[in-house]
Amino acid sequence: MSTAIAALALDGAKKIHQLTVQEFEKILKQKGPDTEISFPGTGYCFPLAYALLGAEVRVLGDISPVLEAARKILPTAPPDKSAWKDPLGDLAAAGHATLLAGEAMVGLRYLTGEEPREGCQGFIIDEMLRTLGIQLVDGRIAGFAALLGAAPDSATAVEIVRGFQKKNILVFVGGESGGTSIIDQLKEEKVKLGWDNYLVPYGRDTFSAIFVLNWATRVPLTYGGLKKGEREDIIRYCRERVPALVVALGEIDEYKVAAAAGAISLGFPVITDNEVPQLLEPGLCLHEALVAEPDYEQIVARSIQTRGIKVRVKEIPIPVPYAAAFEGERVRKADMRVQFGGKYSTAFEYLKMDDLDRVEDGKIEVIGDNLDSIEEGGHLPLGIVVTVAGRNAQKEFESILERHLHSFINEAMGVMHVGQRNIIWLRINREAYQSGFRLSHLGEIIVARLHNDFGAIVDKVQVQIFTGEDEVARGIEEARKSYEARDERMAGMTDESVETFYSCTLCQSFAPNHVCIISPERLGLCGAYSWLDGKASHEITPTGPNQPVEKGRVIDREIGQWEGINEFVYEASHRSLERFSIYSMMIDPMTSCGCFECILAIIPEANGVMVVNREHAGMTPCGMDFITLAGMVGGGVQTPGFLGIGRLYVTSHKFISGDGGLKRLVWLTRELKEQLKKRLIKRGEEIGIPDFYDMIADENIAVDSAALLEFLEKKNHPALSMEPMF
Ligand code: SF4
Ligand code: ZN
Repeated sequence: MSTAIAALALDGAKKIHQLTVQEFEKILKQKGPDTEISFPGTGYCFPLAYALLGAEVRVLGDISPVLEAARKILPTAPPDKSAWKDPLGDLAAAGHATLLAGEAMVGLRYLTGEEPREGCQGFIIDEMLRTLGIQLVDGRIAGFAALLGAAPDSATAVEIVRGFQKKNILVFVGGESGGTSIIDQLKEEKVKLGWDNYLVPYGRDTFSAIFVLNWATRVPLTYGGLKKGEREDIIRYCRERVPALVVALGEIDEYKVAAAAGAISLGFPVITDNEVPQLLEPGLCLHEALVAEPDYEQIVARSIQTRGIKVRVKEIPIPVPYAAAFEGERVRKADMRVQFGGKYSTAFEYLKMDDLDRVEDGKIEVIGDNLDSIEEGGHLPLGIVVTVAGRNAQKEFESILERHLHSFINEAMGVMHVGQRNIIWLRINREAYQSGFRLSHLGEIIVARLHNDFGAIVDKVQVQIFTGEDEVARGIEEARKSYEARDERMAGMTDESVETFYSCTLCQSFAPNHVCIISPERLGLCGAYSWLDGKASHEITPTGPNQPVEKGRVIDREIGQWEGINEFVYEASHRSLERFSIYSMMIDPMTSCGCFECILAIIPEANGVMVVNREHAGMTPCGMDFITLAGMVGGGVQTPGFLGIGRLYVTSHKFISGDGGLKRLVWLTRELKEQLKKRLIKRGEEIGIPDFYDMIADENIAVDSAALLEFLEKKNHPALSMEPMF
């Protein structure tokens, strides 16, 4: 290990520690030790102190022991490493001290209102981990790169960022070099920043890199079931499972080196454009810890290789960049060349199966006007008809494949796709148009992606794109009949109508023992996988994360336990879970990973349950907000009384049917209530309580149990007279 680097890191760590102590003492004197201090939107206090020391920083006075711990691990005279079980090497010691002190510093800045800086994210809330969870496990996000400093010029900055984006790597940008920040370089080049673009500015100095590091360190806490202070396990988890890395750009100083040591001490490698002595031995990191790559054309590839990130790239023959990073990008009216659908014209997309000999693979036809014939900012009707054939293709997969058209099309830079079926809305921006993007390229995208992602069930793909009023009207008629037939078929599917459920273990990359069992009437807790998705996905990758699970002999029909399911879950959870009830949140409930859309929680006083979605920031009547609840249910463990669920499960006929069903539902967030309104009204009629919808409270009615009870009594809510939940 290079002692020169370690010495510089130690120097930086000491200075960071000193600066923080000074700042802390000043603020402590002004405000007193009992002043509350916190980051927004987290259940982990100061996450690094929480993870590495087990400390819960809630008031100013709690910072003292954290800074003291940081001081102790720094090899000052006399060295004192007694606070740690294993003696840390100098570099890791400098790293840990930097993380602890640096986090305290940015925490203090939150207290004094200096963070987040204008236009910067600052501290990243827990919810972002859950929101991105599913994209991480399915590979849409292959990793995270934190860029720290500035590139030699803004064109190079763009090139590096685009390089990562094209490889589906979420990029954080911040820090500075010689007074310039990469954030400004990107702004100068008019690059769109934001979560939707996989490009997030975190802050403007080296300290702010803490925001990315203490976010990445929450992955083991959120998904891995690890607890505060389990330092070694948390670091091992980060090193082995969290695909994060740091790229330090521009001149280095002791602060940057200390921050780099902080990343390395968590197992995240650092790649720099400086000629520094490298740390190539694995140990601290999975592969190399510190790599010098002065060639900017190579820096992205080198970074990916150093972290060992596996990237699946898709080469699509279109004239604009194409990657998952561009999926969430919006096309604003001012930038728009042309649009289709929405409230402007009729538009639909429809995918159908046909016989092999009736489909010509790769054939793309544009029937009607193309983009050149409409004025700037204008609109056209649009019909996208995709015909697919394959030896293993099954008619019931039509809807699955069709639903993917949304992300396929959206991943082209400068193209926005919203909605599905006959409510689509498409926009193409001027830049894409000027680069040569035309309607036929929509076809190219669809053909390439269907072959790439669904090659196992798709042998031939043909696309027709219509823009004539009459053709679109005719096409939409045919499509509508098919949409309706599909809906009827799905509505008729019950858990009893099949012998096989599907497992999903996609989230095991982050929650190693977690298993979802997906039945026709209960979708995965992330909301992204239905039974049909599981089936299709198994067809595509027979040895993949979705396996058919025979129910087998019934153990308990009420709560939904079967021998076959239990046996499968036992093995798939690495023998940590013996039993799963599909329909009960009280007896052997399913586990939760971390990417649940909602949390279902018991409210004992009301003898009922509530559901809160992860976007909801406020209090709930069970006495906890979403963040606190989420801390209880994640990590692949069973927590009776609490359950992560997908939104649509609330209106399923099997919604906790083993615990009394929908009649138990006493509280929902306003947002869920609105989203599910139609279905809830219908379900109310089905259970013989036509005004059930109005009996459900929300945050405008009650956020504590007393107000909730008063409301429920007034409404004569059925839960009050049901048998006790326990
Ligand atoms: Fe993860 Fe379950 Fe969703 Fe699969 S279904 S991706 S395991 S949450
Ligand atoms: Zn998950």
